[in-house]
Amino acid sequence: MNTAFIALGSNLNNPIYHVEKGIRDINHLLETRVIKRSSLYKSKPVGPQNQSDYINAVIKITTNYEPIELLDNLQSIENKHHRKRVKRWGPRTLDLDILIFNNLIINHERLIVPHPEIVNRDFVLIPLKEITNYDFIIPKYGKLLQYI
Ligand code: ATP
Ligand code: MG
Ligand code: MG
Repeated sequence: MNTAFIALGSNLNNPIYHVEKGIRDINHLLETRVIKRSSLYKSKPVGPQNQSDYINAVIKITTNYEPIELLDNLQSIENKHHRKRVKRWGPRTLDLDILIFNNLIINHERLIVPHPEIVNRDFVLIPLKEITNYDFIIPKYGKLLQYI
């Protein structure tokens, strides 16, 4: 059984709905369970500022999927939420990013783990802190608390 952390974000067409439904959709994946979830957080967009604020959350899951299989499943959930890739960092109904997968460091053309921006984004660090212990270690980067 693998343990992973996933970041959810949305800023289009009822963002709270998309994040809450995204969490339920992930819990319904085969042999995958959401075991912890953060509160919902509001944040300013990354990149283009002429878009609405985001709603963000982080969840902890257990899964039998391998990393790329998990990415495939998360992308199909994004597609089910009618996510359209218009421009980089543009508005979206649902973004699902793998933050951490066990203690793996992955540099695949489709998947970088831990997520390359993990320690630079408060909208990820704060909810991650909410659902982990004070001495939580981010693989490759070290103690979570030093980044907050
Ligand atoms: P950012 O990565 O800066 O948060 P984004 O989430 O808006 O940007 P997307 O359009 O969702 O970017 O994804 C672009 C590509 O990133 C995906 O097709 C996927 O293959 C790749 N990717 C690399 N690492 C990850 C990861 N850890 N989680 C999710 N996607 C990833
Ligand atoms: Mg993202
Ligand atoms: Mg993404």
